[in-house]
Amino acid sequence: MKVIDPHIHMVSRTTDDYLKMTISGIQTVCEPAFWAGYDRGTAASFRDYFQQLTVVEPARAARFGIKHYCWIGLNSKESEDLALADEVLSFLPEFLDRPTVLGIGEVGLNKNSRNEIAVLEKHLEIAVARNELILIHTPHLEDKHKGTRIIMDMIRSEPRIDPARVLIDHAEEHTIGEIKDNGFWFGMTLYPNSKGSPERAIDAVEIFGTERLCINSSADWSVSDPLSTLKCANEMRRRGHPEAAINQVFYENPKSFLSQCPKFQAA
Ligand SMILES: [Zn+2]
Repeated sequence: MKVIDPHIHMVSRTTDDYLKMTISGIQTVCEPAFWAGYDRGTAASFRDYFQQLTVVEPARAARFGIKHYCWIGLNSKESEDLALADEVLSFLPEFLDRPTVLGIGEVGLNKNSRNEIAVLEKHLEIAVARNELILIHTPHLEDKHKGTRIIMDMIRSEPRIDPARVLIDHAEEHTIGEIKDNGFWFGMTLYPNSKGSPERAIDAVEIFGTERLCINSSADWSVSDPLSTLKCANEMRRRGHPEAAINQVFYENPKSFLSQCPKFQAA
């Protein structure tokens, strides 16, 4: 089967991961800009990272027959320093113009702080001005529900943003219903050794349906699995779901959402 992983941090992965992915059918990946595991100290280090995402990584992926796209933005964990944030935001447009950049992401909230909200607001202004797709990160902490609500309220108060052009990621059972009701796409993330198992994801598919859902590995520099989407597809198959529904979740859905950006072409 063919799979699109709509959220994976390939700069942290090895060439062996690329090889395993390509021979397993994952030949299209999207990499949101995010936290490196430590706070970057200067705007120049963000510039270098965006250069890596838009130039180095697509070339590395291409060696394995994988199409690599990315999202550009300042992640919420590094949004507390407003002067640094302004400096980074000043050169976002230059990177958003690049041929493999799908839109603004992953941006959102981490601790739901005032500064995080201010920086998210500025990202939304850029998205409106440029009509960009938006990929939203929701808090992993206990305030996921509150953070998701704040984000949705911010977006809904801007009528020029179409919710169908926004994907709210890291959704869980207690946030999916509201996200769908508001017309957004939603992402579910698979985490090995923790709460986001394939079984739990497919439980959610059985409750909420396949519409406007994208499932991703979010594999990064920490304990994670770049083949987890395939393992989740296998769980869906094991439960007797038809191949068409499996293809819908793991290929057609991300393709539909991402194709709203004309630069996107799935392998
Ligand atoms: Zn991520």
